[in-house]
Amino acid sequence: MAATGGGTISINAIYVRRATNDFGMVIHELTHVVQSYHRGNTPGWLTEGIADYIRLSHFEPQARRPRINPEKASYTDAYKTTAIFLEWVEKKCDEQLVKKLNQAAREGKFQIELFKDYTGKTMDELWAEFADTLRAKPNITATNSPAK
Ligand SMILES: [Zn+2]
Repeated sequence: MAATGGGTISINAIYVRRATNDFGMVIHELTHVVQSYHRGNTPGWLTEGIADYIRLSHFEPQARRPRINPEKASYTDAYKTTAIFLEWVEKKCDEQLVKKLNQAAREGKFQIELFKDYTGKTMDELWAEFADTLRAKPNITATNSPAK
C-alpha cells in the first residue's frame, strides 16, 4: 500500500481513498525518510521494527496491539512484533534504547552486539524473557464469559 525510497513516499491512491485516516501508515513511511540507514549494516527487520515502534509508541499508544505467539514469533519478524519487543526492552532495560539504535544505524555502526552493550543481555536472552511474559498473560480476547 506504501513504500519509501530516496526520500520519496509512494502511497497507493486506491488504498488511501478507502483509508483516509490511516495516519499510522504515513508515520511509518515518514520514519523511513528520517532513518536513512546504511542498509549494509542494519537488518531490514530492525528498520521496519523501528518504523512501527515510532508509529505504535509515539502516535498510536492507545491502538489495539496484535497478539504475539511466543512459540512462533521472533524479534526478526519485523514490523509490530519487533516494535512491541523494542518497547518492552526499553521499559525493562534502557529507555533510550531505540534512540541509541537509531543513531548507530544512521552512522552505519549497527551490530547486534549493541543490544548487549546497552542492556547487558543478548538479543536471544531478551527475546526469551519477553516470550515468557507473553506466556504468562491470559488470552483475554479468547474469553467468552458474559458480563455481570
Ligand atoms: Zn516500512
